[in-house]
Amino acid sequence: MSESGRSDGYAAERFPPLPDPLPVHVFDSHCHLDMLDVPVEEALAAAKAVGVTRIVTIGCDLASSRFAADVAAEHDDVYAGVAIHPNETTGVSDAVLDDVAELAALPRVRAVGETGLDYYRDWAPKDDQHRSFRAHIDIAKRTGKALVIHDREAHDDVLRILREEGAPEKVVFHCFSGDAAMAKECADRGYVMSFAGNVTFKNAEPLREALRAAPADLLLVETDAPFLTPVPHRGKPNSSYLIPHTVRFMAEVKGMDADELCAAIAATGERVFGPW
Ligand SMILES: [Zn+2]
Ligand SMILES: [Zn+2]
Repeated sequence: MSESGRSDGYAAERFPPLPDPLPVHVFDSHCHLDMLDVPVEEALAAAKAVGVTRIVTIGCDLASSRFAADVAAEHDDVYAGVAIHPNETTGVSDAVLDDVAELAALPRVRAVGETGLDYYRDWAPKDDQHRSFRAHIDIAKRTGKALVIHDREAHDDVLRILREEGAPEKVVFHCFSGDAAMAKECADRGYVMSFAGNVTFKNAEPLREALRAAPADLLLVETDAPFLTPVPHRGKPNSSYLIPHTVRFMAEVKGMDADELCAAIAATGERVFGPW
């Protein structure tokens, strides 16, 4: 809302224009509706207008997880993920983790995430990050929900802890950041790889090699909005309606027809989070 109380919505001077709609509908596997500068209804309507008909909104602490669960309860085309983000795990208590488990059991919460390890920011001690990640793996297994992993410069420890704990049935690496070798390892283990707008960035050739190595039936697409806006709108705020740029780019990298890739992503989404 602007200062006048009027919603500015997707005002053209701030936001990129709507891309051409996708003929085969696809969904945004990871965004933060609570962090956008526009009302949820407008974000959903803009996405729907270009064929992004469903959205998973993700929590990073208890407040944003509750928000995600509430939005999902109110909107048929939204599911929620709930978790304590690795950057927020300093001294995380069992009581907080119990609250995450309680939220994770709700019917429209379909993911435990984002959890994982972040050695890039390193805001929380590794011990706390590891303890929280292990607890979230357990919650995902107990509730049967998908585990959505944030892995930043922590590939080896993420894969090791998954092996030690025993991975849940459904595992998604959000904003996949590994190389081709890691993509093959994830594929061997049946983990799903979700690519974000940074795959379109000029310097992201290793990520494109990972995308080439990943089987089409283990792929998802996401915005991580409001972050990681794809080319050609890098630098502007991101939102789910910009998925067509990323998914068309991914199809080109894979040498696939965009419709074919969208259909594969939609099927994987149903398997991981659905049925909707
Ligand atoms: Zn993340
Ligand atoms: Zn995120």
